[in-house]
Amino acid sequence: THFGFRNVPEQQKESLVRGVFSSVASSYDVMNDAMSFGIHRLWKDHYVSKLDPHGGLKCLDVAGGTGDIAMRILDHARTKYGDRDLSVAMLDINPEMLEEGKKRFAKTMYHATPQISFHLGNAEHLDGFADNSLDLYTIAFGLRNCTHPERVLAEAYRVLKPGGVFSCLEFSHVENPVLAKAYNLWSFQVIPPLGHILAADRDSYQYLVESIERWKKPHEFSQAIRDAGFVTPDGEGHEPLTFNIAAIHTGVKV
Ligand code: SAM
Repeated sequence: THFGFRNVPEQQKESLVRGVFSSVASSYDVMNDAMSFGIHRLWKDHYVSKLDPHGGLKCLDVAGGTGDIAMRILDHARTKYGDRDLSVAMLDINPEMLEEGKKRFAKTMYHATPQISFHLGNAEHLDGFADNSLDLYTIAFGLRNCTHPERVLAEAYRVLKPGGVFSCLEFSHVENPVLAKAYNLWSFQVIPPLGHILAADRDSYQYLVESIERWKKPHEFSQAIRDAGFVTPDGEGHEPLTFNIAAIHTGVKV
């Protein structure tokens, strides 16, 4: 491909991904809106309201980026349940993304409270997080970027308490052939040029659309979640969103 990402050796993937997110950090939110017509906000709203986090849960938001999920979790618990005991640890491998997240939280009531903490780290080894210590593990649009998703799942399983929930919001695969064609055109013909115009960065967005195309199919992903030891509820444990452009996958540690 134009960016040569398709055949990168495994050991280089991590540093390439790091580069992608360093270069998009400041324009990340604008681009998300432009690429998805703002639909990613609706997916994230739905994702968190369905999780319905409350009751002083200890949450870990992995690949937390600029804090879209962490903020929603805290807001949901507070506005719906008056819960100010729930806490979210936000972890990201990229210092620039984490910095954007910190800046955002600095303007909120959660700033400098035990409700939010920031951790620079790799989802594949959650050093500093004890076994069986967390109630909820979220990862939104992050797992696809990890070099070894299986290691990420194994770590998620390790840190969750029995009864704890693993929940992943990620791009998936459009199955309807007509829609798939339109979606493909949008992804490959529109998003990279849009990245060039809005973020002066075509290559990072070329990488993003390629990584979506290569990502696991829903049944493969559900199987990987089970292989890590989780139980997948309601059959496949998979909820398609917007023609399966994205999906929520759930696993419970029993
Ligand atoms: N969860 C946020 C959201 O939904 O807006 C951010 C998603 S962003 C597309 C993906 C994030 O994953 C980036 O911030 C990137 O730095 C992070 N990331 C990539 N590989 C990672 C890894 N191995 N461990 C932790 N974070 C990682």
